[in-house]
Amino acid sequence: MTEQRTVAYFSMEIGLEPGMPTYSGGLGVLAGDTVRSAADLNVPLVAVSLLHRAGYFDQRLDPSGWQTEQPVRWVIEDYLREMPARASVTIEGRTVHIRAWERQVMGCGGATVPVYFLDSDLPENSEWDRTLTHFLYGGDSHYRLCQEVVLGVGGVRLLAALGYDHLERFHMNEGHASFLALELLEEHARQAGRASPNQDDVEAVRRRCVFTTHTPVPAGHDQFPLELVTRVMGDRDVFRMKDVFCCDGLLNMTYLALNLSHYVNGVAKRHGEISQSMFARHAIDSITNGVHVATWTSAPFRTLFEQYIPGWQHDNFSLRYALNIPKSEVWQAHMAAKQALIEHVNREANAGMNVDVLTLGFARRAATYKRADLLFDDIERLRAISRNNGAIQVVYAGKAHPCDHDGKLLIQRLHQLQQQVKPEVRVAYLENYDMALGQLVTAGVDVWLNTPEPPQEASGTSGMKAAVNGVPSLSILDGWWIEGCIEGVTGWSIGDNGRDRNTHADRARDAAALYDKLEHAVIPAFYRERDRFIDVMRHAIALNGSFFNTQRMMQEYVLKAYFG
Ligand SMILES: *Cc1c(COP(=O)(O)O)cnc(C)c1O
Repeated sequence: MTEQRTVAYFSMEIGLEPGMPTYSGGLGVLAGDTVRSAADLNVPLVAVSLLHRAGYFDQRLDPSGWQTEQPVRWVIEDYLREMPARASVTIEGRTVHIRAWERQVMGCGGATVPVYFLDSDLPENSEWDRTLTHFLYGGDSHYRLCQEVVLGVGGVRLLAALGYDHLERFHMNEGHASFLALELLEEHARQAGRASPNQDDVEAVRRRCVFTTHTPVPAGHDQFPLELVTRVMGDRDVFRMKDVFCCDGLLNMTYLALNLSHYVNGVAKRHGEISQSMFARHAIDSITNGVHVATWTSAPFRTLFEQYIPGWQHDNFSLRYALNIPKSEVWQAHMAAKQALIEHVNREANAGMNVDVLTLGFARRAATYKRADLLFDDIERLRAISRNNGAIQVVYAGKAHPCDHDGKLLIQRLHQLQQQVKPEVRVAYLENYDMALGQLVTAGVDVWLNTPEPPQEASGTSGMKAAVNGVPSLSILDGWWIEGCIEGVTGWSIGDNGRDRNTHADRARDAAALYDKLEHAVIPAFYRERDRFIDVMRHAIALNGSFFNTQRMMQEYVLKAYFG
């Protein structure tokens, strides 16, 4: 069993179950969907992450809309099995012992992919070391660096201790895992009987490593002062290999991964191009993200797909046949999903929403670049559109990172805007966004709204979840939507393509484009050309659901990155 696994996939976060708070947003959900599709396709993959015992937090909003955070108490044994194997890493000269907890993720054909969650909370470790696997993206950069040592170095060692001795590829899902390559480098040197790595070892490690970058802006890349790195990891010969390790006294985790990988990709075509221009010395390909279709499809659409597209879970390409599903049945399935959402919103937020009103959805991390408040740029215009052209209501959800003050202000602002757009527009901000709520919201709204500041949305995946449920996107042309948008066929664009936005005027222009599209395209189609609207829904499934899924994505990784 173990020895047959040839690909090790490392990710700081991974979303396997709504009850396991081991992810914070799109990166972790993508990791979970990747593992689920690997299991469906019987790819010999094993995944590694950290346990995050205290979870990514429980979000509460006070009456003013200000976010507060509580640790999540979850019963690890309900989800995971403790493994007897142990490994250790050295941090500041101390030995930190690590154990692993296992979950086997089963695919649609019965094959499984094991996922290991590393845990340093062992009695033999110091009090502080025991907390290293408690908080996802918590603490300062020193804490983060120690966590990344546990993930990268500890992960490689634990896989060996578990008996995985045929691993040919190591996949770093974002730079948090880059230390795995450093560990492999030193391991190669040791095995060759050398005290420190040389160029042969670098070449050998590069053949084994694959790196996926997710961040289109330099500020998003993890970096640490070399002085801190030396304090935590000790002084090592590799730190002096300039073409591998370091520039200007800083360790940049992205460069480390780039230097030690033979295959590097961005997560959408545009993101691949942007990454290529950021890192001109490296060849950067792209593999566009996807979602795990069976995970994100609502119950009513599952039933419909079973009836009209048998085998859709095994072959996501067959979702193209959604064009043959009668429109009345597509609408019926959609209304069932919408009913479930509206009941939830009215119960949780006392929102008084109506199932017959055009409902927009916006749910994702409350990072400011995503511009959750763009819809409210001109409140009077928004109210007039809803009054004169056709009513709209909007469902919001999303957590701000605990240290992201601006993100919290954004949530609070949205909370207050609810009052200002009444009675024409009803708005609800739901608490505690997670995978379960994500499924309910992406499937239950009529149109999925996405308004990032280009080029910052590397891919985005929530619009893909909407698409498999027949929910078209109304979106800025950034990330995956540049590939997924066929105007008026799979959804609608906001503004033009290819220009970065950073000024106040850009924002106003995007908002005006959003209002124009709502007024002249989306609202008329929804209320007055329902047949055409349902045709867009079917094309969202047939053209986008059939392509923007992790089954197609995993096949690309297998062909180009793992065994290419
Ligand atoms: C899909 C998902 C995301 C990613 O949303 P984007 O719009 O792609 O940023 C974030 N959080 C949760 C809980 C999700 O399910």
